[in-house]
Amino acid sequence: MQRIFATLLAIAAVWAAAIPAAAETLTLSGVLTGTDHQTYREVPFRVAAGTTAVTVTFAYTGQDQKAVIDLGIRDPQRFRGWSGGNKASFTLTETWATPSYLPGPLPPGEWKLILGVPNLRKDARAEYKATITLTKDGAFHGFTAAPLKEGSAWYRGDLHLHTGHSDGSCPAQSGGRAPCPLFRTLDAAAARGLDFVAVTEHNTSSHFQALAELQPHYDRLLLIPGREITTFQGHANIIGMTAPLDFQLGGSRAPTFAQILDQAEAARALVTINHPGLPSGEACMGCGWTAPVDFRRIQAVEAINGGITDGPLSGVAFWEARLNAGFRLTAVGGSDNHDATLDPAKPSAVGRPTTVVYAQALSQDAILAGLRAGRVFIDVQGTRDRLLDTTYAAGKLTVRVAHAAGGTLVLKGPAAPLQALAGVLGEDETRTVDIPASQTGWVRAEVRGPDGALWLFGNPVYLTGS
Ligand SMILES: [Zn+2]
Ligand SMILES: [Zn+2]
Repeated sequence: MQRIFATLLAIAAVWAAAIPAAAETLTLSGVLTGTDHQTYREVPFRVAAGTTAVTVTFAYTGQDQKAVIDLGIRDPQRFRGWSGGNKASFTLTETWATPSYLPGPLPPGEWKLILGVPNLRKDARAEYKATITLTKDGAFHGFTAAPLKEGSAWYRGDLHLHTGHSDGSCPAQSGGRAPCPLFRTLDAAAARGLDFVAVTEHNTSSHFQALAELQPHYDRLLLIPGREITTFQGHANIIGMTAPLDFQLGGSRAPTFAQILDQAEAARALVTINHPGLPSGEACMGCGWTAPVDFRRIQAVEAINGGITDGPLSGVAFWEARLNAGFRLTAVGGSDNHDATLDPAKPSAVGRPTTVVYAQALSQDAILAGLRAGRVFIDVQGTRDRLLDTTYAAGKLTVRVAHAAGGTLVLKGPAAPLQALAGVLGEDETRTVDIPASQTGWVRAEVRGPDGALWLFGNPVYLTGS
């Protein structure tokens, strides 16, 4: 029983939501005795109008005497779910609920915590205590802020994925195509060895509940909620935000892109302009970027979308033009996968490309902070171990490349005399050059294979000059 109780506590920890300061807490406590054996008790409590989350945390004594108390809940109008003895804590909100429970409006009035008693010995007693937290913060409670992994490291992920929650499809059991279940995409990401994914459905947030439910299973793959804001004037990923988001650019809800950015900034979300080099018009409606925007408010540009690494359709020229205009935007990659495939013959397989981020931990906050900081490179073929790290300090530029033997290092940017670093690479090389104090501008590195194919695409360092 102790082992089961420990398991319950572990489950509670996974699902525990951060309790905001502006919360009302109720305590329901009581005693059950042998006469309650195999009966149900309904314990009433009041929920005020305007409540946006109900969290119940439950504990009881008597397990040493084999006492068992099961849990469920009713709102004033309907049954809202039953977790029996499998969860010591659960939350209900309008848009999300702990699995076992139903999300939906939280009507004010008298709710009932249902206690079922499968076993309580004749002479035994069990003291129970339910702590009920009622909040009005409007937050989505499904994702925990706890890191999946502690420590500074390079973390590999895909920032642009679609499933059957928007227009993703993949083979059904009989071989025909069907909306692709979210888990198929996540299984592909896990098989690729990724550390994180942002699932970015077109304009909708219907996948957030499913992502939150799946996160405890994918305990080595961080699931970041995202949306691809798909407008008539361009596409942008808004990553790490769960609040409602008005995306209807040009209408009364979001007359300009600034209104969308206001919402993203309020949620500390990351904004990346997607595939800006694609055409617009009837060739690809709304695909290219044409919306006027203040680039100081954008954090990243999808320089590489799927297999588009070079040429006018890639996002590289658009991104470099912004760098030359003085905006320090992080270049990222995204597979834009729509079918959960890992097939290397498909240029948009899950994790092709992979965006690799130096971050303090494997958590949403740390990954987004790492993307903002820009110590980031794109592994175009989605390998598990290639590394490209460009740093600049005390007048020295250093480039380290690992696991890309036979590739050729190329330097790009206005500070072109740095070609001393360029050339064919070994298995793990660190090359350093002194930069003249007069030199300013940006420098970035990339690595190409013997056939010229892009392997690794680095973000810039900014030379400060003297
Ligand atoms: Zn798009
Ligand atoms: Zn997309």
